[in-house]
Formats: sequence, C-alpha cells, structure tokens
Amino acid sequence: MAKQSEYGLLIDYEYCTGCFTCQIACAQEYGWEPGMGGIRVQEIVQNLPKDKAYLTYLPFPTELCVLCKPRTKKGLKPACVTHCMSGCMTYGTIDELTEKLKEKPRQVLWAPK
Ligand code: SF4
Ligand code: SF4
Repeated sequence: MAKQSEYGLLIDYEYCTGCFTCQIACAQEYGWEPGMGGIRVQEIVQNLPKDKAYLTYLPFPTELCVLCKPRTKKGLKPACVTHCMSGCMTYGTIDELTEKLKEKPRQVLWAPK
C-alpha cells in the first residue's frame, strides 16, 4: 500500500460549479473557523467584449489540508471528495492521478508535502 505522502487530489475544475460544498464539507469535518480551511474555492472572472464575462471556479487545497487522513485510514474518501456533487474531485495515489491527468486538460493535481 502507498504511503500517505504518495496520495493526492485531482481536481477537474472544468466541471466545478462553484457550489462551495467541498469547502463546507472540510469545515464541518474539522471545525475550521470562518476564513480557514483545507480547501478554498476561488472565483475567477474574465471580462469579455460586449459586457460579457467568463467565470471559472478553481478549488485549491491549502496547507491546512491533511488529505483527510482520519477518514482514509478507515477506508472512507476525503470529505470534500464525498460531498462534491459534480464528481470533479478524485482521491488516489499520485501515480494513478498522474495517468488521469493525461486524459484531459483543465485539471489540477495536488499533492501534500
Ligand atoms: S482532503 Fe480533507 S482536509 Fe483536504 S481539503 Fe478535502 S476535506 Fe479538507
Ligand atoms: S464541491 Fe465540487 S463543484 Fe462544488 S465547488 Fe467544490 S469542487 Fe466545485
């Protein structure tokens, strides 16, 4: 079995709806104070011609993310992965996730220290 440090998260942000459920799930799991958490969802606004705008949501884990070690030790998925209704977050080994990363653009692979 791979060591904890060999696991990570793959985030397919093309399908992220910006619902913030991952952020809330992490806060509920660990009792984070407002403004803190293991994952933050950023809204990126790109202004386009003719008063139009293009919105992108980019969830990114922070240094407070512990990859849900207490959950994964019990065979559960991380709280954020479990509650993401879009299914755009995957937990796995870095090797597995690197292979999935090759399948399509607009994904982010995050690995803890
Ligand atoms: S893996 Fe766990 S600790 Fe990390 S962001 Fe997701 S819910 Fe928070
Ligand atoms: S729960 Fe999923 S869809 Fe919602 S903001 Fe987080 S990554 Fe995006």
